[in-house]
Amino acid sequence: MIHVVDLSLLPAHLLPFSPQTLDAIGSTIAAGGNVLVYHNRRGSASALVCSDCGTTLRCPRCDATLTLHEKPIWRLLCHHCGYTQVDTPSCRACGGVWFERVGIGTQAIETRLAREFPHANIIRLDRDVEEIWGIYPLHSTVFVGTRRLRNAPIGNIDLVVFPVFESELSFAEYDTEERVYLDVRLLSERIARVIIQTRFPRHPVILDLLQGSYRDFFRRTLAVRRAFGYPPYGGYIQIFTTAKSETKVRKTMHRLSSILMTRKHTSTILHHDPDDIRRRAGEFLGSILLKGEHAEEDLHAVESEIWSTAGIRITRW
Ligand SMILES: [Zn+2]
Ligand SMILES: [Zn+2]
Repeated sequence: MIHVVDLSLLPAHLLPFSPQTLDAIGSTIAAGGNVLVYHNRRGSASALVCSDCGTTLRCPRCDATLTLHEKPIWRLLCHHCGYTQVDTPSCRACGGVWFERVGIGTQAIETRLAREFPHANIIRLDRDVEEIWGIYPLHSTVFVGTRRLRNAPIGNIDLVVFPVFESELSFAEYDTEERVYLDVRLLSERIARVIIQTRFPRHPVILDLLQGSYRDFFRRTLAVRRAFGYPPYGGYIQIFTTAKSETKVRKTMHRLSSILMTRKHTSTILHHDPDDIRRRAGEFLGSILLKGEHAEEDLHAVESEIWSTAGIRITRW
């Protein structure tokens, strides 16, 4: 059974859990059952934003946002390269030292649940907690964790809660909706109750989960895939180029995209802007996405360039 809770009507101070969700968690653990709270953001907050000028704190080695962690110690962490900062940050743009938290993570959810249910076992399972499966009490326990929880042998779960369902749908891959839909369906078939908290209760994936059959979802998804040339109607190939030198990445990107732009089917090429280069873990990264029915031919056209250049990687979706 899937229940949807509309968060758009909930006063901000009650977030991240609505009173009915807290009631459901409370009655499940009171009856000796186990709850799984499933959230794909680690840490306490996804980002810190300067209160004075609105600039987000970013990793000095990447362009990625720094995540706030408060357990076991206060630190800012880059999830891409592992860069860690333990001293008080200041804003790169204005020097300000006051920050606001944006986006909730599993540590903040754990803290909130521990406050609501002081006598329950609240166990956070994510990449930050190195513990062995199977040593946990399997009654009256709330597990809080990221996607890696999916395959954890944590026994009988009676209730699954998605506190911020849209964060599951925010990944930019073309098949995100399908993955999320299948996950939730599987959970609702295996587990008695699933609660979806969201600000977008009319999202098509949620409507399909509540009312539709798999056939409806399948039809809608295939129509979208056909319209945009995504698999199975077309290829979806990413060419990544990395190097320590930005100039080298820029040159490689220019070379590849100038060959690709001379081809007839240039409309199939996305993100080919050769100046769109990001920093990742002290290296520079450029990417080109080939999409549609001519993607393989486009790739073939730059094959000899790819083999003769170091640091190029191809991913087929
Ligand atoms: Zn600032
Ligand atoms: Zn980084």
